[in-house]
Amino acid sequence: MLKGKKGLIIGVANNKSIAYGIAKACANQGADIILTYQNEKLQSRVQKVADELGVKHIYPLDVTNEQEILALKDNIQKDYGNIDFIVHAVAFAPKEALSGRFIDVTKDAFSIAMQISVYSFIEVVQKLEPILNDNASILTLSYLGAVRYIPHYNVMGVAKAALESSVRYMAVDLGSRGIRVNAISAGPIKTLAASGIGDFRKILSYNEENSPLRKNVTIEEVGNSAMYLLSDLSSGVTGEIHYVDSGYNVTGMPIVE
Ligand code: NAD
Repeated sequence: MLKGKKGLIIGVANNKSIAYGIAKACANQGADIILTYQNEKLQSRVQKVADELGVKHIYPLDVTNEQEILALKDNIQKDYGNIDFIVHAVAFAPKEALSGRFIDVTKDAFSIAMQISVYSFIEVVQKLEPILNDNASILTLSYLGAVRYIPHYNVMGVAKAALESSVRYMAVDLGSRGIRVNAISAGPIKTLAASGIGDFRKILSYNEENSPLRKNVTIEEVGNSAMYLLSDLSSGVTGEIHYVDSGYNVTGMPIVE
């Protein structure tokens, strides 16, 4: 389904990452994948994933560094030419902002969360726009905490709300070139980023018990939906928040059997 397409996937930290599930699904469908690593500490893990998936190049990218985003664009242009999709699977908030009361969030923690989890999405697409093919597909990752109270999600909920809103504005900006912008709102999955959220294990078991499918989603399931949104099969879909959460977002109260 992705044969002949080239795409950038940002956010692989290891083989538990949602970005890894997406990269694997895309590679299986014939896409030529490009990966980035946040820092030297993560480089060898990302290289391992690259070797497994037949990725030819990995590039450094700390999304807070504008020069690295510009260098990434130049490197991709040189090594691959134009690309057909971008996946943004990046988020961060200081740990102290992911437990306790939301109202106690500091200005610093708020701006770090917004910069890394929201502005990075806008800036990467803005800087890479010149090397995007017409009809390209762009995807980011959100969570139900954008639209509902979720214990401890706090400032990340506000960041995800801004991210989902950015999806809609960017869909309009890029729609005249046939470029689509969507988000997947994934259910809770045990990853490095998720380990920073207070009581995450409780959230996992609550979701498992109270989602219509009575299970948590896997990175393979998110990968498969991502592959659909990145392929031409979804050519009429843009500005959407696509839930891949075993249906948990539809149950307003605990399920009673
Ligand atoms: P992860 O820890 O595997 O991935 C997060 C990635 O963000 C890492 O690769 C990390 O290197 C990268 N990152 C953080 N700061 C960065 C920076 N300054 N520059 C470049 N990269 C940076 O965790 P994940 O759960 O796979 O997270 C991927 C996305 O999925 C995030 O947006 C997260 O909010 C979202 N999400 C996760 C869940 C979940 O339960 N795990 C649910 C819904 C949405």
